[in-house]
Amino acid sequence: MRTIVIGGGISGLVCAHRLLQRDHDVLLLEESDRAGGVIGTIRQDHFQFELGPQSFLSNATLLELISGLGLDGELLRADAKAPRYVLLGGALQKVPLGPPDLLGTSLLSVGTKLRLLSEPWRRSRPPEDDESVAAFVRRKFGDDLLQNLVGPLVSGIHAGDPERLSLRSAFPALHQWEAAHGSVLRGAMKSRPPKGTPRPGLCSFREGMQTLVHRLADAIGESLSLSTRVEHIKRGKANGHAGFDVHVTRRGHAETLNADALVLATPTQAAAAIAGELSGAFRELLARIEYAPVAVVGAGYRREQVAHPVEGFGFLVPRKEKLSVLGTVWSSSLFAGRAPVGMVSFTSFVGGATNVEWMNSSDAQIAEVAEREVAQVLRISGPPVTSMMRHWPRALPQFNLGHGRIVAGLEKELRRFPGLFLAGSYLSGPSVGSCAEQAVKTAEAVQTFLSAQESA
Ligand SMILES: Cc1cc2nc3c(=O)[nH]c(=O)nc-3n(C[C@H](O)[C@H](O)[C@H](O)COP(=O)(O)OP(=O)(O)OC[C@H]3O[C@@H](n4cnc5c(N)ncnc54)[C@H](O)[C@@H]3O)c2cc1C
Repeated sequence: MRTIVIGGGISGLVCAHRLLQRDHDVLLLEESDRAGGVIGTIRQDHFQFELGPQSFLSNATLLELISGLGLDGELLRADAKAPRYVLLGGALQKVPLGPPDLLGTSLLSVGTKLRLLSEPWRRSRPPEDDESVAAFVRRKFGDDLLQNLVGPLVSGIHAGDPERLSLRSAFPALHQWEAAHGSVLRGAMKSRPPKGTPRPGLCSFREGMQTLVHRLADAIGESLSLSTRVEHIKRGKANGHAGFDVHVTRRGHAETLNADALVLATPTQAAAAIAGELSGAFRELLARIEYAPVAVVGAGYRREQVAHPVEGFGFLVPRKEKLSVLGTVWSSSLFAGRAPVGMVSFTSFVGGATNVEWMNSSDAQIAEVAEREVAQVLRISGPPVTSMMRHWPRALPQFNLGHGRIVAGLEKELRRFPGLFLAGSYLSGPSVGSCAEQAVKTAEAVQTFLSAQESA
């Protein structure tokens, strides 16, 4: 029984790898000439820059995968206490990480601080309808928390607009804690993992994020077919059972492959094009998921060019500061080996759902504005020693109001096509860790399906 996985980003790689580990016959088809999707690392003038994700938050699935691939020795963990900053009135303010910092911060009013500290004793219930992140924060805490902290954090994670993001889809734990305990803080305390459980932390690899996708591609070996674009799929026969015909263009030649099970692990636009002939409902549902554009701008400087201290994670920018930059990671402070000795490097993000008009500018304009804005905040003199830019017109899926209904609709439609499965960043979360968890779940569902087919 053959499974074809379409799309060789982290979702498709993890799904195919898991199925191979369980001795299944798998073929992973990837359109481009490299695996990894948006994950990639480049080396330039002795600096190391990430093209997409800068790091990942460890979870059990990723840590098990990393160990299994023999990558424990390559793993780098960021300092969990590294301070993060928010730009307010042109100056960087430390993000409070606990109650003592919270009392002292100038990011929040006294009223909001009191509402935060007293929240466990003020029971509330979430509304029946899907609620936006912004409406939730205003209802429970206050507008300054939204403007100065939650908005910038939401930009940092989803490149999203808090007025449109759905709380229960984008931050399901917060919704569930309020629903179950009447308080998010009480819910968070009750859901704390048992003592001794390793805490999730920000990680990367010595040679950058591409280490993970390269090692997965190596482990998948000949079952990975690069430069193979899937055009569309149809119902067909495989091994005498109902299956799928997969129409591909491999290195310029059209071919039809057969599969008993099929996993679509591409972003929604490609998934809609591939499965659109099979189901108009798929096409319509997938088209309703919006993506936010993001440009990644990296720059390296000599240490003495930067007057502002840059020890920590970096800074986020509230929209009211009217900058094009959403935030800047101090790459060389976060992980060793990102810049040569005596140099520092930064990676900034421009665009997002609240700033889409920026994406009509040329790459050179975006890079120039990002460089100028960061130079102003960090008091940088002179041009960078090196710089890079990567524009992602469809970087991150938006878990906007109604997202839950779209995913439920997709699940319902999947039931009409036994053997067809989905994986990807638009289903249960865009982070590398969520994509890996979703991919493992999908691989398990494929296994269950194939076992049932075999015994039928
Ligand atoms: C700029 C940026 C910054 C990010 N920062 C972080 C971060 O710091 N931490 C974090 O955890 N996450 C981050 N993310 C999110 C995370 O990286 C992504 O959500 C995740 O990597 C998506 O993986 P994927 O496999 O689902 O999709 P993709 O990486 O998009 O892979 C899909 C693959 O499908 C292939 N494909 C498409 N169409 C076809 C076709 N017709 N036939 C065959 N193949 C096809 C594509 O070529 C691609 O390789 C970031 C994302 C971006 C873009």
